[in-house]
Amino acid sequence: MTKDLCILGSTGSIGRQALDVVDKCGLRVTALTACKNVDIIEGQIRRYHPAYAAMSDEASAADLKARVADTGTKVLSGHDGVCECARASGADTVLNAIVGIAGLEPTLAAVEAGKNVALANKETLVAGGRLVTRAVREKGVALLPVDSEHSAIFQSLQGSPGKKAVHKLILTASGGPFFGKKRAELEHVTAEQALNHPNWSMGPKITVDSASMMNKGLELIEAVWLFDMRPSDIEIVIHRESIVHSLVEYVDHSVIAQLGLPDMRIPIQYALTYPERFESPVGRLNLAEVGRLTFYEPDYETFPLMNICRSAIERGGLYPAYANSANEEANLLFRQGKIKFMQIAHLVADAVERAPRCEDYTLQDVLEADVHAREMVRTHIQA
Ligand code: NAD
Ligand code: MG
Repeated sequence: MTKDLCILGSTGSIGRQALDVVDKCGLRVTALTACKNVDIIEGQIRRYHPAYAAMSDEASAADLKARVADTGTKVLSGHDGVCECARASGADTVLNAIVGIAGLEPTLAAVEAGKNVALANKETLVAGGRLVTRAVREKGVALLPVDSEHSAIFQSLQGSPGKKAVHKLILTASGGPFFGKKRAELEHVTAEQALNHPNWSMGPKITVDSASMMNKGLELIEAVWLFDMRPSDIEIVIHRESIVHSLVEYVDHSVIAQLGLPDMRIPIQYALTYPERFESPVGRLNLAEVGRLTFYEPDYETFPLMNICRSAIERGGLYPAYANSANEEANLLFRQGKIKFMQIAHLVADAVERAPRCEDYTLQDVLEADVHAREMVRTHIQA
């Protein structure tokens, strides 16, 4: 169980909910990092007294440094400052709640420094799964899932006699705000509509990923790396109520699931207190009140990003990295009103089609793939 915690991305949706868990479980905070939100992190520093803080944005770091000069917190700056917090803050666990591939190097820095990593930042595993899992094995640290589906699978695997006993993993998906709609109806949807998620309150990037179902594609790849499963052994099922967070089917056809209210503080807490369990700040699940749990096949025709991701991880190499980075860029352009919703899938598919073949890769290869995939998306929309 975690005692001293470093939170990367502490001002975001996951970061702030993690601090609720910190309060409830009495953990110590050794470092906090963010990108630009100086107001929120200043308040967090004054409340949690971390030894270190970092802002990836240099101007915000300078601002924060001046504002907290009266505290004992050392403020670092830039991407290197964030990595240094992951490495050097004296934490036993680093919670990575950064959004996007910007979380990859801090994850590697934490693992290389021998820290356990509680991972919310799924893009890390999608883009660099081989690098991260290899480093985790070499260092003998724990990689604990925070994503609710992966936490559910991790919990459903407790007591499993081993991988041979597992037949398949079943990821549940809420279906997002556009469930039931067909392609023609999605032609003109706006970012505001996509940002209106029915069950979860999350950061803007993942909320749009949930509307496009890219989130489930990313989670499929995340599950491949976390649980060492073949993509063909991972199934997706739509579950509108977001009560069953995911399931494991064993070879004897027993299916074990984890249920709970849709509140990220449950999986965040499990990652931080594992293998212990503590009272939670989240309410109890009342099944009679929920009444009905429903399940549907995904509509792969309308939401092709799930299969684009499936094929990217089946092909391996840098294909998932291209899918992830093209999506990060397209997701942003959609939120900025520069492209239409349905273009996101086209741009991701195009980047994956044009990605170079390779078997193994280095960190440098992934970072170059990131630049290249984003360029592909931008030049495509300028053309
Ligand atoms: P968010 O946008 O609310 O917060 C992101 C955090 O990362 C902020 O603290 C921000 O300052 C920081 N950040 C942004 N860009 C950065 C950069 N370039 N370098 C360093 N820090 C940077 O996002 P979120 O919803 O909390 O999601 C965080 C991660 O957790 C994502 O990978 C997301 O997919 C995953 N996740 C989120 C939820 C959820 O409920 N929000 C659920 C499952 C998984
Ligand atoms: Mg999830």
